[in-house]
Amino acid sequence: MYLFSLNVAGQQFKTMNYISTNGTAPPVTFREAVRQGQAPDGGLYVPEEIPRLPEAFFHELPDLSWAEIAFRVAKPYVGDDLPDDILWQIITDALNFNIPLRKVREGIHVLELFHGPTLAFKDVGARFMSRCMAYFAGDEGKELTILVATSGDTGSAVANGFYGVEGVRVVILYPDGKVSPIQEQQFTTLGGNITALAVDGTFDDCQRLVKTAFADEELNRRMLLSSANSINIGRLLPQSFYYYYALAQLGMEEKAPVISVPSGNFGNLTSGLMARLSGLPVAQFVAAVNVNKVFPEYLESGKFVPRPSISTLSNAMDVGNPSNLARIRHFFGDDAAEIGRVVHSYSFTDEETRAAIREVFLTTGYMLDPHSAVAYLGLVKELDNDERPGIFLATAHPAKFKDVVAEETGRLPEIPPRLAERMGKERQCVPVSSEYPAFRSFLLERFATT
Ligand SMILES: *Cc1c(COP(=O)(O)O)cnc(C)c1O
Repeated sequence: MYLFSLNVAGQQFKTMNYISTNGTAPPVTFREAVRQGQAPDGGLYVPEEIPRLPEAFFHELPDLSWAEIAFRVAKPYVGDDLPDDILWQIITDALNFNIPLRKVREGIHVLELFHGPTLAFKDVGARFMSRCMAYFAGDEGKELTILVATSGDTGSAVANGFYGVEGVRVVILYPDGKVSPIQEQQFTTLGGNITALAVDGTFDDCQRLVKTAFADEELNRRMLLSSANSINIGRLLPQSFYYYYALAQLGMEEKAPVISVPSGNFGNLTSGLMARLSGLPVAQFVAAVNVNKVFPEYLESGKFVPRPSISTLSNAMDVGNPSNLARIRHFFGDDAAEIGRVVHSYSFTDEETRAAIREVFLTTGYMLDPHSAVAYLGLVKELDNDERPGIFLATAHPAKFKDVVAEETGRLPEIPPRLAERMGKERQCVPVSSEYPAFRSFLLERFATT
């Protein structure tokens, strides 16, 4: 079972250690965990303990600003690796957009996570993490190469998060032809320190190439590599902030809510579970998935069987081997039954997703993108008209998936200006095969310093 620390109410924080889910890498502090991304033993970094936040914090929650909540939650996790003024600066600069909780209809609320620059929730994690990395790298005067595999939204959020940041370059791998044209436009038109690779394969191939590169000792000697996927703890931490903020907006006098999270690599859900383990009153989580359903199958059978991913409308959730499951299992002592008490999981087809977009628009006027529609479906299935308040997370703006949304609602979602601007720019990408040696040579030729 996971251990809790009970002494974070005061101002002094002992340095938090991060350990690997594989158990053999030495413990590191926040700085090193963010810098490395993946632990050297191939595992994912997790905090050694989840800091238990004091009762007083939860009473005050509704009166705190978004930035104050973020700061108080982050502090015990980052310890002295980020001095207070730097942490405050990173939070206010990275998380400078609104995350409103709106009522869709009686008992059903939506937390809109898509008001960042790339219109998807990954902006939260990517912007916070990139600023942490830039701060740490600058401290040491080194050039950093960030490798990131994307199924669509990570690429644009990471590219935008790092764009123009000195001492850092970003290589984005995406499955050629399998991301939406808008998504592709968002990370292939920046140029500068951002390079996009169109991989002849699937998202799982991209993820495999990145993982193989991290495990390649010679490559790592010749360049300083890091990861910006949801495996980086620097992305997970800020994602937990908005779960507290959602409850702050709901009001703490309400019954504990059910929160439905549209899930692919399960980073978002992991962040929510960390918030709950710290004391946030969440009655139940729902992991809402499309037909890529290894997680509900795991809860049912206790066996985790990764599969090749299947393409769906909610393409950022097309993941057949969700990496963050390693963290979730770690938090719950690898006990599927224990996880299943806190998280229920349901799978939905593209047809059900389309029907939800249509139904919600017809009955409430609210527009859902396909990912948010899956979350909505999960929430409604879980609540089944019971009394608990429900929150579902809207992870992408409907304009990012405007064709599907228009087909189902009969209306074109309004395109926010920052998206329209990108659409006119020229695309730059390099085609590569899904074989590791080709990818490796590309990295060495382009970026190695020795
Ligand atoms: C990445 C993504 C998800 C899935 O989030 P995970 O943390 O990988 O589970 C859901 N919706 C959208 C729009 C995304 O971009």
